[in-house]
Amino acid sequence: MKKLIVANWKLNPESAKAAESLARLEDRSGVVICPPTIYLAPLKKVLKRAKLGAQDAFWIEEGPYTGAVSPSQLVDLGVKYVIIGHSERRYLLQESDEVINQKVETALKAGLQVILCIGEDLESHEKGSDQTRLFIVDQLGRALKNVKSKYFKNIVIAYEPVWAISTSNSGLEDAPDESKKIISLIKTFLKKRYLMHNPRVMYGGSVNAENFDEYLADDLIDGVLVGSASLNPREFNKIQT
Ligand code: PEP
Repeated sequence: MKKLIVANWKLNPESAKAAESLARLEDRSGVVICPPTIYLAPLKKVLKRAKLGAQDAFWIEEGPYTGAVSPSQLVDLGVKYVIIGHSERRYLLQESDEVINQKVETALKAGLQVILCIGEDLESHEKGSDQTRLFIVDQLGRALKNVKSKYFKNIVIAYEPVWAISTSNSGLEDAPDESKKIISLIKTFLKKRYLMHNPRVMYGGSVNAENFDEYLADDLIDGVLVGSASLNPREFNKIQT
C-alpha cells in the first residue's frame, strides 16, 4: 500500500482564500489535506489529486450537540479521512480515552478512514523505554476497545510522541531510531492482540523537508503526519515517498 503524507494544518490559515491557495499548491496524489472544518467544503472543490481529511469528528451522529460535526456529515461532503485522538485535543481539550474510543467507532461506522493518534508524554518518555511501551500499549487498547475487526483495514495509527510535536525550536531532539522501535512494538501488539494482518503505522512529530527521509525511507513506517511544515508548500512538497 502506498505511504501516506498527511498535512495537519491545525488552526491555519486565516481565510478561505488562503486555504484554497495553499491547497492548490499541495494538491498531489498520496497526500491527505486536513484543514480546519470550515474549509473542508471549499477545498473539496479545489483538490484534484489529494484526499480531504478532517481534524476531528463528533462521537454521536445527530442530536442536541451544539457546535459538533458528525462523521456522516463529513462523508456527505466527500471527506475520506479523519484524525482522531490528536494530542492537542487530548491535552488542551481534555479528550478522554473513552471519548476517543467512541469517536473511532462512530467514524469507522460512517465509512471514514481513521488516523488514530497515539503517543507518550514527556514524563513517560523521560522515565525510559519500558514506561513508554506501557503507555503506548495502554492508550492503544483503550482507543480500540470493542472496535470490530471488519473495520481494522480502515485504521491507520499515527505514532506521535507528544514531546516531539512542533518542537523544532525546543531543543528536544527527534529520535528516529527510538520511534522505529516503538512503531515496531505497535505493529507487533496489533498483530498479536487484534490479529491485524497488516497494521499501518505512520510517524508524526516535527517532520520536515530535512528529516522526512529518516522516516519514509524505512519500510516499517507507512507514512508521515506533518503539522507545521505543511503550512509551507515549498517545504511540504519536498516531503516525498
Ligand atoms: C501534528 O500536528 O500532528 C504534528 C506532528 O505537528 P508538527 O509536525 O508540527 O510536529
